[in-house]
Amino acid sequence: MNFSLRRHKYIRQTRQIQALIKQYQALGDEQLKAKTGELRAQLAQGKPLDKLLVEAYATVCEAARRVLGMVPYDVQILGAVAMEDRNIIEMKTGEGKTLTAIMPMYLHGLTGPGNFLITANEYLANRDAKEMGVVYQWLGLTVMPGVAEEGSDEEELDRHQVYSADIVYTTNSALGFDYLTDNLASTADDRYMQGFNFALLDEADAVLLDSASTPLIISGAPRPQSNFYVSSDRLIKMLVEDEDFERSEDEKQVWFTPAGIIRMQAYFGVDDLLSKDWADLYRHLVLALRANYLLKPDRDYIVAHGEVSLIDITNGRELTGMKLEAGMHQALEAKEGVNITQEMRAMAQVTFQNLFRMFHQLAGMTGTAATDASEFMEIYHLAVFKVPTHKPNIRKDRPDRLFISNEAKLLASLKVIRQAYEDQRPVLIETGSLALSNLYSRLLLREGIPHSLLNARSAAKEANIVAEAGRPGAVTVATSMAGRGTDIHLGDGVKAQGGLLVLGTERMDNPRVDNQLRGRAGRQGDPGESLFYASLEDRIVLQNAPRHVRKWTDKHATAQKQRLSNHGRFRHVIDNAQRVIAAGERSERFSTLQYGEVFRVQRDKIYEQRDAIIAGEDVQGKVEFAVKQAAQDFVEDHRQPDVAAFLDFVYQHVDRDYNPAPVRENPKLAADVDYLTDLIMQRLAAVHEKLPAEDQWAYFERLALLKAIDWEWIEQVDNLQTLQSVTMNRSTQGSNPMYEYQKESRRSFKVMKRALYQGVLANLLCSELVAKADGTVKVNFP
Ligand code: ADP
Repeated sequence: MNFSLRRHKYIRQTRQIQALIKQYQALGDEQLKAKTGELRAQLAQGKPLDKLLVEAYATVCEAARRVLGMVPYDVQILGAVAMEDRNIIEMKTGEGKTLTAIMPMYLHGLTGPGNFLITANEYLANRDAKEMGVVYQWLGLTVMPGVAEEGSDEEELDRHQVYSADIVYTTNSALGFDYLTDNLASTADDRYMQGFNFALLDEADAVLLDSASTPLIISGAPRPQSNFYVSSDRLIKMLVEDEDFERSEDEKQVWFTPAGIIRMQAYFGVDDLLSKDWADLYRHLVLALRANYLLKPDRDYIVAHGEVSLIDITNGRELTGMKLEAGMHQALEAKEGVNITQEMRAMAQVTFQNLFRMFHQLAGMTGTAATDASEFMEIYHLAVFKVPTHKPNIRKDRPDRLFISNEAKLLASLKVIRQAYEDQRPVLIETGSLALSNLYSRLLLREGIPHSLLNARSAAKEANIVAEAGRPGAVTVATSMAGRGTDIHLGDGVKAQGGLLVLGTERMDNPRVDNQLRGRAGRQGDPGESLFYASLEDRIVLQNAPRHVRKWTDKHATAQKQRLSNHGRFRHVIDNAQRVIAAGERSERFSTLQYGEVFRVQRDKIYEQRDAIIAGEDVQGKVEFAVKQAAQDFVEDHRQPDVAAFLDFVYQHVDRDYNPAPVRENPKLAADVDYLTDLIMQRLAAVHEKLPAEDQWAYFERLALLKAIDWEWIEQVDNLQTLQSVTMNRSTQGSNPMYEYQKESRRSFKVMKRALYQGVLANLLCSELVAKADGTVKVNFP
């Protein structure tokens, strides 16, 4: 359906909903509450969800009026209707996305658990689960926050209770981690996830784009520690740029030259560094190369108290839970000469792209989506639908003020801030980094201008400060991420002053974020103004503009006239830098997607098997298949009878008390698949005799399978993780890294399956079964 037809349909439905709301106003509370049961009954009779939309939306709108005292606007209903039709709606800040979301959430909540509203942070998940929760509860649905409240323990969250709620307000990483953990459970009782029905993503662009290239990883057992980190680091520091290695213009890629490889081979005295034999060493060299020449202290990480920690550049928050690729942290520690921490094995991994593609249905809301519409369509099959504002937007967006040096820019922007302060007009100063917001704070202090500084330490405190930012004379310094999702109300007399002034102190990595900042002003038809200050010394210019711009800047940094014209040769310098960044990020996301896809195929196979085993589906058949396959694999590997190998296999995986006489007399038996299979089946029957109760036996079989799967799969996750970090860095050596990755990951999956069959065999036949007094049996797996 084309755009205007779709729009027409949504408007028609909006009118129907409005008409129905009028009728519902006449209903008593009990009658309105009864709608939930009636709608659920229609669902149970097979009526499709979209046929219930009008009734459900009208019900929840009328409930919102009675419970919250808020009547959803036409545009909110329109947006909610569009979301049900696979759209990300673009809705400006302050237009009321929180209330809009209750319509689709209620509709899907009718189907039972598995519906999520993904908020931007834990604070909002808790706040909105409470504030909007009362409406759902009033109508008889259950709702839970999926994250612990600030200050309380994540462990204490009852995940069974959370995931059995009809509607869950949560964050993308909480959902991702829970999904992974759920799939590490070994009994049905330990599992809590109840399906992936519907996800509505608030700040959809941040969730689907900005965090898309960092996978979520659960780390488990320590990896055997390698001693290559320090020696690799030492060697890498001796290499010469442009001779032994090269860096891309944007300094985001680095690779070895053939001469560099030869040099390193000589240093370590190895013949072929790129061969499988030296893969581990090569991996460490790649990590050291990246650590030394791509990552910078105080930009990408900080070194304090003898430790390296990663930081989020925009708000100075330490990044927890997120990890750099396998071993990168240790490589950084070697570079900085601090103690090298234990490297953990990755146990489970998922990308956000994969996570959200698991849902039956997705929808999103954001202030700014149109810039990335094609990517949403391509990856998530979501269209972008722009919702008009409730009242016309009268905010004035001024053209950028561009300067040569950063200093000149700062001084000029301070004048504007002082003026606004003197006029008692509120100003929100948005910076792109923690360092810059601290700098502004110091400058304002020097000028004697009282102000609040938001440095993203506590989302709850932030929300309060942001809420106050519209008072007369309020000066607030914030980083771009701070206090998102909290609305700024104007104080008395501020409208007459022109409303809130948003002052951007540098342009951000992409226009979407710039627009988010602008959107802080001029909400709900309020007056407002946005203005960006930029300089040729801003981070995004230094990092992304062509070299000649940087040279020119150096030469003119102290020139008399610092203000640049908006029509001169540098008018596009910022837009172009943003385009360079966007292109790089897009290609990174597509590459993450491709790698993630290979991973997903394998993970789905494994999780599917686990699910079936936990549910007790054909466990007997799976056991037999595995043990027979193990016998076949052995014989395939030893077509020439090899008695020693045969005995080794039998003692390790089948029977520690095997009597070797028959094979000694007739060595051909060592390559006879029937003989080995018989041996295994007899032994299996003997073990079964020790555990005759059928439920005990079934439990033992299930556990034997799961243990083997988990053991091998966890190893495989770690392999794939490592493999990805190595192949991604081969991109510039003339090979096709994606192809190599696919080939190698398929090969290793096959190897894994073989190991898995052997593991099942050993778990079943070589476990120690200890009968206990209470009739239960304790199993010690090999
Ligand atoms: P957004 O997330 O789109 O920026 P919010 O959901 O935070 O906006 O809502 C902004 C403000 O508007 C909130 O204070 C909210 O209570 C108010 N609001 C939203 N919708 C309505 C409505 N229909 N009637 C009255 N107030 C509303």
